[in-house]
Amino acid sequence: MTVMVDIRSVHKSFGPLDVLKGIDLQVRTGEVTVVLGPSGSGKSTLLRTINHLEKADRGEITVDGTPIGYRRAGDRLHELPEREVLRRRTKIGFVFQNFNLFPHLTVLDNVIEAPVSALKRPRKEAEEDARRLLARVGLADKSAAYPRQLSGGQQQRVAIARALALKPRLLLFDEPTSALDPELVGEVLDVIRDLAARGTTMIVVTHEIAFAREVADTVVFMADGRIVEQGPPAAVLDAPREERTRAFLAKVL
Ligand code: ADP
Ligand code: MG
Repeated sequence: MTVMVDIRSVHKSFGPLDVLKGIDLQVRTGEVTVVLGPSGSGKSTLLRTINHLEKADRGEITVDGTPIGYRRAGDRLHELPEREVLRRRTKIGFVFQNFNLFPHLTVLDNVIEAPVSALKRPRKEAEEDARRLLARVGLADKSAAYPRQLSGGQQQRVAIARALALKPRLLLFDEPTSALDPELVGEVLDVIRDLAARGTTMIVVTHEIAFAREVADTVVFMADGRIVEQGPPAAVLDAPREERTRAFLAKVL
């Protein structure tokens, strides 16, 4: 098995606040890693650091064998120009809690925006792909709608189609169902479940424990900037070794 994401001794602070205190994590190609942990434990910062929206202060992260923000020369790392960072970042899809769709663009235009502007793909070709992706997330009939005309669950499915439009090697989800009404959570989890079945490499931050048990290859429990415990769902969720994991699960289950 090859490693898609390799995180070594990553530290990140905001001023005096140490948010990531030495994170080591490997995500294998084709596997789903679910990250759990209390609010403020550093989960979002970890995802943002993986795609270089935040710069790690120390440590190293590679995605598909290369760092997103650096070029290696011998044993030294040189920062890359923003243009190259943006280009490398296109191999990572990011799905946010609040969808972050462009409100003034139709569903179809949301999905083709990045392939056309960042990857310079011909519009016609990008549209064909986008229609196929929208059908895959169950929204074939919504391509001309605007985000405000859709439910939260539909908007999040558009956001997933948009992330997929870049043909990413890796998908990151930051609490993709936390902003949804309870009856809309299932339709979004179904899409993520389908991606997992197709062998998509994903890191999913979520509090949906039943989903984690079913879909995750690895469950990671974070607290206070550290990985407290990680392993297969049956170990971490059903027989946690650490008291902090037990206390957290008792609250969310
Ligand atoms: P989680 O996603 O687990 O809730 P976050 O990674 O969002 O945790 O945040 C971890 C800590 O870092 C929190 O205390 C948060 O307030 C702080 N934090 C996150 N981003 C920033 C930032 N850009 N500037 C300052 N503090 C931040
Ligand atoms: Mg968060």
